[in-house]
Amino acid sequence: MTAHGPMDFPEAREALVDAGQRLAARRLVTGTSGNLSVRVGDRIVTTPSGVPLDSLDPAWLSLIDLDGTHLSGAVPTSEVPLHLALYRNTGAGAIAHTHAAVSTAVSCTCDELPALHYNVLQLGGPPRTARYATFGSEQLGENVVQALRGGRTAALMQNHGSVSVGHDLGQACDRLELLEWLCELHVEAHRLGTPRVLSAAELADAERAFEDYRKRLKPGR
Ligand code: 13P
Ligand code: ZN
Repeated sequence: MTAHGPMDFPEAREALVDAGQRLAARRLVTGTSGNLSVRVGDRIVTTPSGVPLDSLDPAWLSLIDLDGTHLSGAVPTSEVPLHLALYRNTGAGAIAHTHAAVSTAVSCTCDELPALHYNVLQLGGPPRTARYATFGSEQLGENVVQALRGGRTAALMQNHGSVSVGHDLGQACDRLELLEWLCELHVEAHRLGTPRVLSAAELADAERAFEDYRKRLKPGR
């Protein structure tokens, strides 16, 4: 087995430290809630267990392999089974999980977030809620994989929080923030009355409009 030092994979370490500060600054994490990871080949750099995400030390992150074997650094997050299940079942390069307040509130009341806004398309469709299972359990990983089926890139975790996958940690954090915004919208709209939900046809039109929108921004692609 290759020996690993505390500063292997410096880019992944920097991305984790930056993401922890970003999510804390936007009030999506409080205290030691939540965890993050980045995959580099057959290695995964994760946040340590029980450490506040706004003050991560790059030398004190945890390195594991795809079987969950601890290779170096601090004790890895208790959600290793969740992260491993997502790396095994999606093409993710990074994962973000938090207990963002509004997402967590909505996870207790909704099995699937109704499409009040076309931005659900940026998460692969209306986000689903993974069924409740104890934190850190294999079952929780399986339930989240199930909630992401069909190309969803973010999910609520019932009575727990939210989770997203991305090519990199920046994208995973963008998605987690968007999910929190969609949950805020859901709560605000219900405060005002019974919201109108976009139809499947309206979402299909918006999907086509998104394709044109991306082409305008990146001609030739
Ligand atoms: P860790 O500190 O072990 O990552 O746990 C936080 C958490 O969010 C568990 O679901
Ligand atoms: Zn959690």
